[in-house]
Amino acid sequence: MGKYDGERIVDIIIPCFNESEVLDIYFIETKKIVSEIYGYEFNFIFVDDGSKDSTVDILKKYAKENECVKYISFSRNFGKESAMYAGLKNSVGDYVLIMDADMQNPPTLIEKMLKAVSEEGYDCCSANRTRNGDPALRTYFSRKFYSLINKISEVDMPDGAGDFRMMSRKMVNAIVAMGEVQRFSKGIFSWVGFKTKWIYFENVERAAGQTKWSFWKLFKYALDGITAFSTFPLRIASFVGCIVSASSFIYLIYIIMKTIISGKDIPGYASTITLILFIGGIIILSCGILGEYISKIYMEVKNRPIYIVRETNIDQPKNDYR
Ligand code: UDP
Ligand code: MG
Repeated sequence: MGKYDGERIVDIIIPCFNESEVLDIYFIETKKIVSEIYGYEFNFIFVDDGSKDSTVDILKKYAKENECVKYISFSRNFGKESAMYAGLKNSVGDYVLIMDADMQNPPTLIEKMLKAVSEEGYDCCSANRTRNGDPALRTYFSRKFYSLINKISEVDMPDGAGDFRMMSRKMVNAIVAMGEVQRFSKGIFSWVGFKTKWIYFENVERAAGQTKWSFWKLFKYALDGITAFSTFPLRIASFVGCIVSASSFIYLIYIIMKTIISGKDIPGYASTITLILFIGGIIILSCGILGEYISKIYMEVKNRPIYIVRETNIDQPKNDYR
């Protein structure tokens, strides 16, 4: 229950990694905007993802001055996925919003998103950005990634779908119940199902500070997404294996027949070496694909905590290490 009878609670989760430069801009602006939305009580859950700058001090200051501010500070950098999970797990609101600290997720959309989940019967409202202004190469690879993952996995992810979403309690509970250590939230959001409304907004530049994504990090992220939500690559390995074995067998019969009919054949270096290289390549590729999945299993069976809290102003059980 909110402060007033019938008031519903909205938790806003903000993962922050070295965001001291933009936090003030974000907090002042967002607080002002939500204070003008009536009928709801808004709480902020900031998750400091092991920042090395003064992010955590700023968050503590906010918490001291504002009753509506909660913070969770990690013992080290666990990544945005873990930060989002910690926020969701510690949220209690009827509706939960995830947004970035850098003003790339316009707070002006909050009211519209809230309306979708509280009045229009949706469980989720996701605000996707257009790719205007993104580097051409990055846009190209992103588009390819989304069309690929939509084809080979059971989840449906529109291009540009981000983590900026407002969700109902039911959906949040479903997401928190998915305790996998290696999290690919875009896939998880889609996997749990529920009715989602998609809205779009123009790409905005970061208000200050720098993006934490390099091209290499994005590539790894894409690979993680695919291996987390599709076993298609494993099937490619078996499929190619079958094709190669079948053709090798036919070739084997051909060689035997040829030897029987026209005697021993000394030349043949080129074809031998080509075949060895070709099959060797496929074996290595298949091992690589297997390796990707095995490493996932390995990390998953260790069942390590998704994040470790160093400091927080949210009550935690004294003996809880997660
Ligand atoms: N972030 C985080 N942990 C990380 C990297 C990023 O919590 O390891 C947060 C970051 O503080 C921001 C959000 O995730 O609030 C999005 O990060 P960023 O702006 O760097 O990504 P981009 O907008 O470029 O995709
Ligand atoms: Mg950003």
